[in-house]
Amino acid sequence: MDLKRVLLSDLYPTRYFQKNTKLGKDNHVIISIPHEYCSVNESIHRHLCDKAAPYVAAVIERKLDRCDNIKTKTFNGTVYRRRCDLNRKESRVYSCGFRPEMTNYTKKLLMNPKSNVFCIDIHSYPKKYKKWSENLDLYILDDDPAIKPYTKLFVKYMKEHGVKCSAVPGKIGENDIMVEMRSMGVDCFLIEFNEQILVKNAAEFNSIMNTSQSRIVGEIKERIDYVCNKVVDWISTINF
Ligand SMILES: [Zn+2]
Repeated sequence: MDLKRVLLSDLYPTRYFQKNTKLGKDNHVIISIPHEYCSVNESIHRHLCDKAAPYVAAVIERKLDRCDNIKTKTFNGTVYRRRCDLNRKESRVYSCGFRPEMTNYTKKLLMNPKSNVFCIDIHSYPKKYKKWSENLDLYILDDDPAIKPYTKLFVKYMKEHGVKCSAVPGKIGENDIMVEMRSMGVDCFLIEFNEQILVKNAAEFNSIMNTSQSRIVGEIKERIDYVCNKVVDWISTINF
């Protein structure tokens, strides 16, 4: 099968998938980073905030911006996860932050029947996190059995391109950005990047990536860049 000419909506025409048309030029990728806020008291080993996610999202956004037929928009988390988890249903209220803006923005895009809209929900997990492997570049998390083949396709593509990747099941209906996007007919993915270094917060991660002269950081940075490239390649092969 030639992946480059396959649309997910053709492969898995479930209620989730938008009927994309290859003729459309109006392509949009929405990026969400719900957990970028870290509390000052947060343990570096815990996974309550996503320290590498804003850095990764920025790399992916820059790469997508270079594709002249794709427009991107990023929605950043605005609140501590303990106060309001922006990836849970309870966060669909204005007092929590970006969720209603993201929903309204998506609805507006969908009013144009020529729009192709895709959403990528970006997260990251700490080094030495007990639940997940230290040796992978990223996980794709999917909680809906109906989407599993879709997830398999992602993992297959990544592995074929040298990305160390695995799928992990989430609780059904729990990851609400995915749930809401899919309910609107927008393909949405949740990916979890390996942070690879221990840091306090996203600002520290950013600063290390952008200023450190160390060889190890250089290698990590190069690796993240490569993985982001593959994610962007995959988005462009499946949806547009
Ligand atoms: Zn997260």
